[in-house]
Amino acid sequence: MSDRLAQTEVTIRENRLKSIIYYSGKASELAKAEGTEKFVCKERSYSQCSDCAQMTASTITYFVRDAAVVVHSPMGCFANTPLNDTQFRNSAIERGEQPDKVRVICSNISEKDTVYGGTNKLREAINEAKKRFNPSAIFVHSSCATGIVGDDIEGVALDMQEEIGIPIIPVYCEGFKSKIWSSGFDAAYHGILKNLVKEQPEKNKKLVNVFNFLGSDTFTPLLGKLGLKPNYLVPLASVDRISRMPEAACSAHICETLGTYVSSVLESDFGVPKVKSPAPFGISWTDNWLREVAKYTGTEDKVEEVIESEHRRIAPELERLREKLSGKKIYVFAGDAYAHNVGSVVSDLGMEIVGITTLHHDMQDDTEGTENTLEALVKKTGEIENFSVCNKQPYQVLKILEKLRPDVMIVRHMNMTILGGKLGIPSLLEGETNISAGYDGIITTGKRLLALIETKGILKTLSEYNEFPYTKWWREEEDPFYFEKGAKQ
Ligand code: SF4
Repeated sequence: MSDRLAQTEVTIRENRLKSIIYYSGKASELAKAEGTEKFVCKERSYSQCSDCAQMTASTITYFVRDAAVVVHSPMGCFANTPLNDTQFRNSAIERGEQPDKVRVICSNISEKDTVYGGTNKLREAINEAKKRFNPSAIFVHSSCATGIVGDDIEGVALDMQEEIGIPIIPVYCEGFKSKIWSSGFDAAYHGILKNLVKEQPEKNKKLVNVFNFLGSDTFTPLLGKLGLKPNYLVPLASVDRISRMPEAACSAHICETLGTYVSSVLESDFGVPKVKSPAPFGISWTDNWLREVAKYTGTEDKVEEVIESEHRRIAPELERLREKLSGKKIYVFAGDAYAHNVGSVVSDLGMEIVGITTLHHDMQDDTEGTENTLEALVKKTGEIENFSVCNKQPYQVLKILEKLRPDVMIVRHMNMTILGGKLGIPSLLEGETNISAGYDGIITTGKRLLALIETKGILKTLSEYNEFPYTKWWREEEDPFYFEKGAKQ
């Protein structure tokens, strides 16, 4: 086991990848600063809202088919669970698989437990999870309260897994620990890699790990052209399938932010090469991704023919979409690398990217040699003058939108879709990340955008009746990042 995996916890992103939560300027300037400390992660002097690493960890652990999760926290940290349950059912159906439900228990610690310790409640919750769900493994999420009082989750896990006979996996995802909630992805993967994943002497040359969220099955047709199969991880996979992930020929992902840590450890500790080209979004990125996958799977003899025939197949529809969308101004708001993916897709549709905002920005990758997706995007589209990093602050995004006034926007998160609607800007919610992957993903995105633009009239009318809760002073302030000027390090 490498030093990295031997650690109880993975180092948080701002320390490991020098990630930042604020930037405003040209995309090329930020891309050029890769690996440097030119920009650093500062405290925000005013934060309107935030997310939590526990929430990002739950997008991985909650959806393992035969596992249970114990959230060791007060009940408030558990509030998202009904939404997760709906997502689990719907996404399984969407992928053509058996619907499922989350198996989650909260230890529900009280004020008293934060004084005397909550490990007894944790033991009770683990026993209850075993009794209710009979799972193949139990994940234990930490939280701010249990992290601060220092409950020994690992000690309880080691002790109890002997007692109940299944792996118990600590996931250190306390919200207070990192300013970058994507650290929760790494925390979940660290627990999985350390406690579940096993060396696989036999390799399957036809299998490609695809780290993704819940999402539709768009990689089977794409990889199928080369006679390959996606191994979708981790949501909707079983504990057994997760433990065998090193048997794949290589590891890919739908977004560098999601897959950086897990694919890096799989490469260094388990010998599974990581696909280092940007994820397959947009024509040239899909071409290059397929070429690299072909290299690891021994299908290089077929790949150029596949690429050529796919270009021919989508050309008429792409041309039709370009005629309608060409020159339309678009703004993208999404997580770090996923926003770059979306930028790559919409540029193939002939649209003008007037601005991109990402939730954070990783200044480096976990694996040396991984292509910088922002640099690749600038190379493809030319300079993006209005590029910003903003961790989901509506008061700032409102000002960005008022300044840029795009014809349409694509956003990954619901609250920002509503913001666009209030301003009369048709907004596409990219809640399902697999849908725009591959060659078909470009066509699907184009069709969705065309349908969306039709809503412009009604949104404009609705926006005339909208009132924002901000003061006249803030509405008149020109700089969306006014508060960051006084940000302290
Ligand atoms: S872990 Fe911390 S930040 Fe996350 S929901 Fe609980 S209290 Fe909030």
